[in-house]
Amino acid sequence: MTSRTLTTIGFDADDTLWQNEQFYRLTETHFTELLADFADGASISERLLAAERRNLQHYGFGIKGFTLSMIETAIEITEGKIPASVIAQILDTGRDLLSHPVETMPHARETLAALADTYLLVMITKGDLFDQERKLAQSGLGDFFHAVEIVSDKTAVTYRRIFSKIGGGPERAMMVGNSLKSDIVPAIAAGSYGVFVPHELTWVLEHVEEPSEAPRFRKIEHLGELRGLIDTLG
Ligand SMILES: [Mg+2]
Repeated sequence: MTSRTLTTIGFDADDTLWQNEQFYRLTETHFTELLADFADGASISERLLAAERRNLQHYGFGIKGFTLSMIETAIEITEGKIPASVIAQILDTGRDLLSHPVETMPHARETLAALADTYLLVMITKGDLFDQERKLAQSGLGDFFHAVEIVSDKTAVTYRRIFSKIGGGPERAMMVGNSLKSDIVPAIAAGSYGVFVPHELTWVLEHVEEPSEAPRFRKIEHLGELRGLIDTLG
């Protein structure tokens, strides 16, 4: 019997277990088209990102906040002249985002199925409560999780709290995700392993440098490599 130290594995959801950012990008493109008479696409996107950055502290992460930021940007760019009919279309695009089909990532299902017998799996995600619950239900992955934590932000305190409650504490836990800023760096700061699974589309506000001197930092190409990685930890 090996002395397995790991008890708990946390998984980010958006762009780790299922596609997400690609739907935001499509919505943003549609948004810039709606305002094409007033400004070019690049400057609309820049103003939108600035609004999102400003508004995170008020609305948190997710589609509702994104929709409000689109409306705010539209008011700014048109200097208050945006027709109500266009605001209605912006609201529609936001609602469409709340009903996009759930597309799970390669290897997500088989990996969770294989790990669920041995480890306590926890889904840890930001975003709108309704939307994340919907996506979890539609993904068909819910049964693999011992717990689901939908949180307003992901900090070292968040991970310490969750991993102290579930399993053997942060030192015996691992967090797996596509955001260095939200999933990896704070989990390592909490004392856990941080396994970075890069996604080609990651929101610019989630970018930070890879940790350089962190013995518990790991990086894999896709979820199919996770079990092999865990076996090397002993
Ligand atoms: Mg993510």
